[in-house]
Amino acid sequence: MEKKLAEHNAIKEENRAFEEGERFFYLGNTYPLLYVDSHSFKGVRLINGSFIIHRDNKSHAERVFVEWYKKTARELFQERVGYYSRLSKLYPTGIKVTSGVYRYGSCSSSDSISLSWRLIMAPLYIIDYVIVHELCHIKEKNHSHRFWDLVETIIPDYRGCKRWLKDNRHLLLYGTSP
Ligand SMILES: [Zn+2]
Repeated sequence: MEKKLAEHNAIKEENRAFEEGERFFYLGNTYPLLYVDSHSFKGVRLINGSFIIHRDNKSHAERVFVEWYKKTARELFQERVGYYSRLSKLYPTGIKVTSGVYRYGSCSSSDSISLSWRLIMAPLYIIDYVIVHELCHIKEKNHSHRFWDLVETIIPDYRGCKRWLKDNRHLLLYGTSP
């Protein structure tokens, strides 16, 4: 996984033209884009290892892609927050999906958490770390030792996750422009 991501990092500067064959991230892997005529669906589908878009959407492929990322992120975040809330007994008052570029998550003073849809491009264990990080802020509002001790009880390798986010910042920009 690490190696695969590093390889794709090398092409991160490339401009996105949404041409057929361009690869897009989803949960830490990349899948090529494929345009089709024969399907009646709108938007994006991830089928048999390819992102499928109807050819009619080619001129606004970026917009439909971002819509798909946001929708998919919202569903996944709700499920993962639910799981980690039950595990930690830390329940947010709400979940908001943002377009944060380098700010992947936050927790408000009223214990509502915000998560960037861009995280959907990262591996699931990274998404889980950011969720747990924000849930722990419900109990500990700062980054004290008590805070990190709490994170560690749920994500023992939280340091590795922090490092991954630091090393792969550009990766989460790669799919689309802000
Ligand atoms: Zn924090």
